Amino acid sequence: MTGLPPLPVVATWFRRAEVAPGIARIEEPHVHEFLRANIWHVRGRDRDLIVDAGLGVASLREHLPDLFAHDPILALTHAHLDHVGSAHEFSDRRMHRLSSVDAHTAASLRGPELAELLGFDAPGIPDLLIESAPIGFDPAAYAIRPAPSTSPLEDGDVIELGDRRVTVLHLPGHTPGSICLFDEASGALFSGDVIYDDILLDELQESDIDQYVASMLRLSILPVRTVYPGHGDPFDGGRMREIIADYVSARRR
Ligand SMILES: [Zn+2]
Repeated sequence: MTGLPPLPVVATWFRRAEVAPGIARIEEPHVHEFLRANIWHVRGRDRDLIVDAGLGVASLREHLPDLFAHDPILALTHAHLDHVGSAHEFSDRRMHRLSSVDAHTAASLRGPELAELLGFDAPGIPDLLIESAPIGFDPAAYAIRPAPSTSPLEDGDVIELGDRRVTVLHLPGHTPGSICLFDEASGALFSGDVIYDDILLDELQESDIDQYVASMLRLSILPVRTVYPGHGDPFDGGRMREIIADYVSARRR
């Protein structure tokens, strides 16, 4: 492996914005858009819910200590590196029983190497997937710290926050253990990589297109009002149904 060029060092790694009452989006702006994922912080009366855990390049506990102040439940939508990196920092970690964060989790910040590990073609993927680094970080030493599930999830499980509750939907296709979290009272869907407003990845080594189509059809009939996706901006239920219709018709051709 060739050496890495020195990266600019930044003191602030995460960017946070409130996008709805009690719902904040946390991003990693110095990560290349291919890997830049959302972390969602949902405030509850009794406990907070954190959906996904970023790339693990910087410590969430160090940079955003208030995320840990209200007995948080971490729920992972699936076990790809850009969603699980800081999972080890949480004590209550929940993910589908088919997902695991361990020594086998594919992890590299080198574009071509990551493409090979995940099993997809990515012509033009940059050599390095971060543009800056937090203080003291060595990209060549990047790895995912093991973070076993403390509470495996199944379809239909409910996560209680006091004044909010979300239901686990097992929607395989992108990965076997992909889940969405649905707040039926508000119509909010935390969708991970099951659906976002860009090209959906259904040809990775562990993907399954037939399952993906079935998951999309299941999602299409839910009363979703706002989607908080794993990548990119939130969108409404109408846009969700358009993305689903486009995906399903393309895959049925
Ligand atoms: Zn993914």
